Order: sequence, then structure tokens, then C-alpha cells
Amino acid sequence: MDVAHTKAFQQKLEGQRADLLAQIAQQRGGTASRADMAAEHFAHNEDSDAQVSTARDLEFAINEHETAELGAIDAALMRLTAGTYGHCIDCGATIPNARLNAAPDAARCIGCQEKTEHNHP
Ligand SMILES: [Zn+2]
Repeated sequence: MDVAHTKAFQQKLEGQRADLLAQIAQQRGGTASRADMAAEHFAHNEDSDAQVSTARDLEFAINEHETAELGAIDAALMRLTAGTYGHCIDCGATIPNARLNAAPDAARCIGCQEKTEHNHP
């Protein structure tokens, strides 16, 4: 991959990373205040524990998804620095630019990605 392409993908990944961090910050604030509201609303209700734990489960699920995405972006930025970006981490094949344009944090070629998804449904 040439320098111009590498730079373009790096900018794309850094943009995605910034967006994701902003989104996480916003969601953490939003979810926390919803959980507080629920706690207050159900404070004198026998179902309060169930309601609050649902809000917390939701917050946990959101964080887990975004943390995984952030990890994929960070890993891609590390591959850019190491000079291995654009190569499949499993078989070493070149990942087509079209695939990287659609998913700049793609770590595998389509064949290996499919195998991975079959192994971990
Ligand atoms: Zn591969």
C-alpha cells in the first residue's frame, strides 16, 4: 500500500475513533441519568431492583459493543504504524482497498473473516 493510501486510511480511522469516543461519552452520560431517573421513579416500588438492573444491563451492553469497536480501530491504527495494515492478520493476503474503504478497521480478508464468523457464531 502506498503512502497516500495509508495516510487516507489513517485519517479515516482517527475520525472514526474520535466520533466513537464522543458517542461513548454521550451515551455514558445519557444512560447514567436514565438509570438515576429509574432508580428515583421506582424507589418506593417493589419492582425497583428489576427496573434498575435492566437499565444497567443496557448500559453494559452498549459499552461492551463500543469498546470492541474502539479496540478494532486501535488495532488497525497499530497495524498502520507497524506497516502491516491492509494485510490479512490470518493468511497475510492483501485486503482489497474496496473492503478497507467500507471497513477501515477490517483485520482479515473476506475468506478468513467468514471462517472466523463461522467459528464464533
Ligand atoms: Zn485471510
